[in-house]
Amino acid sequence: MTTQASSSSQAAQTSASRASASQTSDERVVHVLEFPGGYTRSTGPVIGRFLTGLRSGRLFGVRMPDGRVLVPPTEYDPQTAAALGTADEDWVEVGPAGTVTTWTWVDDPRPDHPLDRPFAWALIRPDGADTALLHAVDSGSKAAMATGMRVHPTWRAERTGAVKDIACFAPGEGPAEVPALVPAPDGEAELEPVSMVTLPHRLEYRLRGGTVWNHFIDGMAVGQIRGTRCAKCGKVFVPPRGACPGDGVPATEWVDLPDTGVLTTFAVNNVPAAGAPEVPFISGYVLLDGADIAMLALVSDVPWQEVRIGMRVRGVWVPDAERTRSVKNLKWFAPTGEPDVPFEQFEEYV
Ligand SMILES: [Zn+2]
Repeated sequence: MTTQASSSSQAAQTSASRASASQTSDERVVHVLEFPGGYTRSTGPVIGRFLTGLRSGRLFGVRMPDGRVLVPPTEYDPQTAAALGTADEDWVEVGPAGTVTTWTWVDDPRPDHPLDRPFAWALIRPDGADTALLHAVDSGSKAAMATGMRVHPTWRAERTGAVKDIACFAPGEGPAEVPALVPAPDGEAELEPVSMVTLPHRLEYRLRGGTVWNHFIDGMAVGQIRGTRCAKCGKVFVPPRGACPGDGVPATEWVDLPDTGVLTTFAVNNVPAAGAPEVPFISGYVLLDGADIAMLALVSDVPWQEVRIGMRVRGVWVPDAERTRSVKNLKWFAPTGEPDVPFEQFEEYV
């Protein structure tokens, strides 16, 4: 499998007035984790053949050694791990109609759901298959849904070789008419088997920082990096942990840390990402002086070719007037110009 992805994480910034409030532990911020533009991967021959079938408006399964037909197909027998779908005769066209084996009702569809009206998520076993695939059923009402009901696919005209080539399933036997492909294929190249897919990934969630994280952010708002120390092993964690991951006891002692440290490892990033500096940019782990765990950070103010493991670095902060309750106050780390730190002095933190 080949992949190409970039990611970004952004914490919504809160107002300065709330920053000064004493009751901040209930504050929630919205985090977004996503691959802008999607996550691109190769399909391999088995999934690729299934997706190519969808583009043609046809459903294919693959026969397992015990004779059962698996839909959607997998590359390996789930029970014996034997390779599947290696021979043409192992492929079986199924459906297009099928039977609902189980379902759940969605009263309030989300923006990315396949339908903008209430619908059912259902496991549907296409005729001729021994397993079921997950899809939406547009039954019109919850009362119209039933395990064992017959459904057929509603195909889109704009098919790309994806599970969404089926808009949804509808009650009844069909017919499951397959509209001509839009846009119409222009020569053989456009009808190449599907071998790559780009999948959207976006996770949006609300996070309550809690006591530890809020105290850390309060420090960042004034340019102070704060860590916590475990009373048992004495290790200092930054960003702070509420409990020692090694000892499982509360790490309640706060430690003010300097913004200087050593770069223990780094990566040269060549994939553009929302909110990140222009490529190539450097991300790396900085072991702050006095800390026992390295923190992820950007490294800048230095040509990327000159960045090296063991480099001494210092934090570069946004001006006082621009600070908010955010880790973004610490823009990046830049070389201090001090001699490099020998690897032996920090190897246990790499
Ligand atoms: Zn400990």
